[in-house]
Amino acid sequence: MRRDETGDDVRETGYEPSLRRGTPVRVPEALAPNAEEEEYGYVILGAGCAGLSFCYYLLEAGVEDPVLILDQKTSFADDRTWCFWDVEPTPFSRSATKSWGSWSLHAEGRTIVHRTERYPYRCLTAVDFYEHALKSIAERGNVTLRLGEAVEGYKAHGGRVYVRTEAATYTARHVLDGRGLPPGSPVFEEARREAVWVPQKFLGLRLRTRKPVFDPRVCTLMDFSVAQERGLRFVYVLPFTEREALVENVYLAEARISPEEHRRELAEYLGSRLGLSPEDYVVDGEERGYIPMTDYRFPRRLGEGVYSAGMLGGGSRPSTGYTFLRTQRYCRALAADLAAGREPSVKLDARRYGVLDAVFLRFMLLYPERCPGVYRRMFAGVPAEALVRFLTEKSGAGDDLRLVGAMPKLPFLGVAARAVLNTRLPKR
Ligand SMILES: Cc1cc2nc3c(=O)[nH]c(=O)nc-3n(C[C@H](O)[C@H](O)[C@H](O)COP(=O)(O)OP(=O)(O)OC[C@H]3O[C@@H](n4cnc5c(N)ncnc54)[C@H](O)[C@@H]3O)c2cc1C
Repeated sequence: MRRDETGDDVRETGYEPSLRRGTPVRVPEALAPNAEEEEYGYVILGAGCAGLSFCYYLLEAGVEDPVLILDQKTSFADDRTWCFWDVEPTPFSRSATKSWGSWSLHAEGRTIVHRTERYPYRCLTAVDFYEHALKSIAERGNVTLRLGEAVEGYKAHGGRVYVRTEAATYTARHVLDGRGLPPGSPVFEEARREAVWVPQKFLGLRLRTRKPVFDPRVCTLMDFSVAQERGLRFVYVLPFTEREALVENVYLAEARISPEEHRRELAEYLGSRLGLSPEDYVVDGEERGYIPMTDYRFPRRLGEGVYSAGMLGGGSRPSTGYTFLRTQRYCRALAADLAAGREPSVKLDARRYGVLDAVFLRFMLLYPERCPGVYRRMFAGVPAEALVRFLTEKSGAGDDLRLVGAMPKLPFLGVAARAVLNTRLPKR
């Protein structure tokens, strides 16, 4: 008899086994610390998306110097899923759990469905990413991973960087700070104070249902047909099978919302949209996040020989919060430059995206109630592939013109004028 993790017989309940069981990733032995190194070529702070990606690309660029990765966590849990449009190859794209050629948006009583086989929307679970990255970097034999070791600080002096943890001090020629941007951290607070800031707060449930209710061919990027009283809100649905999905409740607002309220709102959504009562599904896991959408200029050079990447290095696209692909691009370029002994380019975005994103962010803050309509016009007025290229910073002038053409002109011009005059905006 097959049982699910609640102990129920699968045949009785109708629940299929989970696509992902969320077991922590096994760390390859080759990464275990043995003899104390005196000095490293590179010390990487944080074994998350940016830290592991940067290490992967360093090795890809032929670096043979000893590399040390430090992280305060003690294991690699299945703590998130990364979605991105596959507009260019990444070493991790093939590990995707699921890809969709079709995605939809619901707003103002209309549903817009886009299709493109050219740029699939891929979903990578954290365990698949960690597993693949750790296995690859363990193959070279020059990388050491120290888990359970929190970094307290670093100091650059005389061409060396000294990294202090609670256990030791490590010396390196180069340091990558990929410690993320946790709410409350100094950089997070400074960016929130100084720049235009739209929070993206979300909680998602990975669930399996008793009956088939999802269409696994189409994912829902934004469903705005939910209560908007507390701020701009949508539901995001990634259907893995007819009975399994990640369903996320997302606020693009400084709404005070507890995890219990998120769960309650999701239960309401599942009930009203899919006819599911809580007895009709099992929750296998939960993921939560806070991605700041901001035009803050995150410094990417933090001192001599010290660089930042990932969310700490401005890896999140200001107007969307998408971070994964940008982090891949930047880490690959930074690693290639450092490996070749070149001065790395640490500039943030192409200027035109910076300008468009700054205007869009301001619009979201000033007119949140108009945003569902704006997204609807954007999705209805711009062909799928042009939209993907814009969202992934691969657009040409024609794509950008289409996008601008689909926007309501007057309010955006007003907001653009305020952006030029740098008028202070209300904090929400
Ligand atoms: C639940 C969730 C879902 C997301 N989904 C998407 C998505 O679909 N698409 C997308 O593009 N982006 C997504 N993001 C945003 C972004 O891609 C991720 O947050 C990504 O992991 C950021 O990478 P990072 O390397 O900056 O930080 P992280 O991956 O969070 O890594 C930071 C690492 O630093 C370690 N650390 C922190 N402080 C210290 C310290 N003092 N000493 C030692 N180690 C430390 C942490 O333990 C962690 O391992 C999501 C984020 C979350 C939270």
